Amino acid sequence: MSKFWSPFVKNLVPYVPGEQPKLAKLVKLNTNENPYGPSPKALAAMQGELNDNLRLYPDPNGDLLKQAVAQYYGVQTAQVFLGNGSDEVLAHIFHGLFQHDQPLLFPDISYSFYPVYCGLYGIAFDAVPLDEHFQIRASDYAKPNGGIIFPNPNAPTGCVMALAAVEQILQASPDSVVVVDEAYIDFGGETAISLVDRYPNLLVTQTLSKSRSLAGLRVGLAVGHPDLIEALERIKNSFNSYPLDRLAIVGAAAAFEDREYFEKTCQLVIDSREKVVGQLQAKGFEVLPSAANFIFARHPRHDAAALAAKVREQGVIVRHFKQERIAQFLRISIGTPEQNQALIDALGEL
Ligand SMILES: *Cc1c(COP(=O)(O)O)cnc(C)c1O
Repeated sequence: MSKFWSPFVKNLVPYVPGEQPKLAKLVKLNTNENPYGPSPKALAAMQGELNDNLRLYPDPNGDLLKQAVAQYYGVQTAQVFLGNGSDEVLAHIFHGLFQHDQPLLFPDISYSFYPVYCGLYGIAFDAVPLDEHFQIRASDYAKPNGGIIFPNPNAPTGCVMALAAVEQILQASPDSVVVVDEAYIDFGGETAISLVDRYPNLLVTQTLSKSRSLAGLRVGLAVGHPDLIEALERIKNSFNSYPLDRLAIVGAAAAFEDREYFEKTCQLVIDSREKVVGQLQAKGFEVLPSAANFIFARHPRHDAAALAAKVREQGVIVRHFKQERIAQFLRISIGTPEQNQALIDALGEL
């Protein structure tokens, strides 16, 4: 702390990202990165952009990428917003759409960046408990609110909601913005983007960090009614006009165009997930049903923090959260078959 700080900075509680170890040989199953690389076509597009044009600013609107996203989802470019990772898109959403008199609603077990943004932008929130099976219950959100946000599939549980339940939430709060954070939707859920033309209060966010394996490039997006997108554009153009650089615009666009590679790698992750679930269950773990590229599991007789420390000693990192309700769970990202086997071996006999 220092006398030079703006007063509100001393009360900020920042997000704590999963560890990014400097040791390359660790098996990293802690931050839900994709074990398969980005599309070779995305890499080639970025290599083609490594030239003298880097002296020029990029397109502030990222139109090439907006068009690729709009075409992929069958929406208009005016329904697409782009940002430097979906975290930045979420920040602008909290800033531009969630500052109201009533509290924002999100699940008690959810993405831990949501309360951080509430702190940053001074937004009151009400954490709605998941039900006893760690599921989001749509009817719990039918109460006065200044906005609603939840990941689907939820993180860190991996549990997915059917579109009908998402619609139930949208219909119960027609005067609030409802944000569906679809960071993991491509690993087993159904996107709510198909609903944006019918619900002007719906905003769907996605990222290229997980299913398109571009966490290092920082590209995220939102799809919704042009009036919602306009609010986000106003915030963005009051903050940073060029959130996406030249490499990100062409690389992300090429990743959306390479449907074949995308579908193949998502399926590999899904197949591995089902195998790991079976292996963990055979060791006595209770595994929540996952539609994501990670699983959330607890063992009835072994402490989660102790298990995380045990596998870490053998070079495998998984994520453990201290939050009381989930303190006995481990969140394990799905890696390559070899990495997954390293985890199973590190757990050993239980
Ligand atoms: C990973 C993740 C994000 C952020 O993704 P970036 O695009 O890398 O910023 C957003 N929401 C949830 C639930 C996530 O797990």
